[in-house]
Amino acid sequence: MQLELPLAVAPVTVPAGTLRYIQLGSEIVGYRFRRARRRSIGIVIDDDGLRVAAPGHTPIAEVEAFIREKARWVLQKLSDWRAAPKPPVVNWSDGTMIALLGRPVIIELLPGRRDISLQDGRLGIGLAPRGDPAALRKRGIAWLKDRARALLGERLALYAATLGVPTPVLALSNARTQWGMCREDGHVRLNWRLIHLPLRLIDYVVAHELAHLREMNHSARFWAVVGQLYPDYEAARRELRDCSHRLPIL
Ligand SMILES: [Zn+2]
Repeated sequence: MQLELPLAVAPVTVPAGTLRYIQLGSEIVGYRFRRARRRSIGIVIDDDGLRVAAPGHTPIAEVEAFIREKARWVLQKLSDWRAAPKPPVVNWSDGTMIALLGRPVIIELLPGRRDISLQDGRLGIGLAPRGDPAALRKRGIAWLKDRARALLGERLALYAATLGVPTPVLALSNARTQWGMCREDGHVRLNWRLIHLPLRLIDYVVAHELAHLREMNHSARFWAVVGQLYPDYEAARRELRDCSHRLPIL
C-alpha cells in the first residue's frame, strides 16, 4: 500500500517532561526527564526521542551517571532513530490530505458549521468562529477514532463468528509501533490508526489478534488458525510491515 501523500513534514511531537541535556562522548544529547512512581531509572528511545524516568528521590547526579553508563547504547539507538524515515505530521488545514481506508481524503474546513462529514473524498470539518487549530485537530482525531471503533468492532464480530468464539471486548490503542494486542481473557486492543489502512489490512490484523484466542503464541499452529480466517495472510503481513512507518502523525 502506498501512503505517499503530499503531507507537510514537521518535527515529531515532543512528549511531556522537562527537557534536559547531557554530554555523552562528544555529543550533547537532549532528553525529556520526568519523575515517576517506579523503583529504578528507566530509559526509552522511541518515536519521540530519548526519555528518562526516575523515582522521586533519585538525585539528578545519579540519573546522569546512569545515562552515562548506557552512553554507547543511547548514542547507537539515537543514531538509528535519526536515520529512520520519519512519518509526516499532518497539518489540519484546508486542502490537507489524509488516508482513510487506504484512500486519500481531503480536509475541507467549513466555517459556520459544527459537524464533521465525509462525502466524495472530502472530510468536511465545521469550523467554529474562534476555533483554534489544536481544537480542530482534537475533533478530527476524535471523529477518526469513532469511525475506527465502529469499523473495528464490526470486523471483530464478523471474524469472531467465523472462528466460532464470542466477540472479544474491544479497546482502542494509540501506539505508534503496535497494531494490535490480545489478552488471554479475551480482550483485544486494536490501534485506531488502522483506519488509515485498506480494509484488507485491517482484516488481517483483526484475524491475527483473534487467532491468539486459540493460540497465545506465533507457532505454526497459530499461523494455521490465521490462515483459516485469512488465507492470504503472508502478503498482508508484508504489506503492513512496509507501510507502518509511513503512517502520518495526526
Ligand atoms: Zn501476534
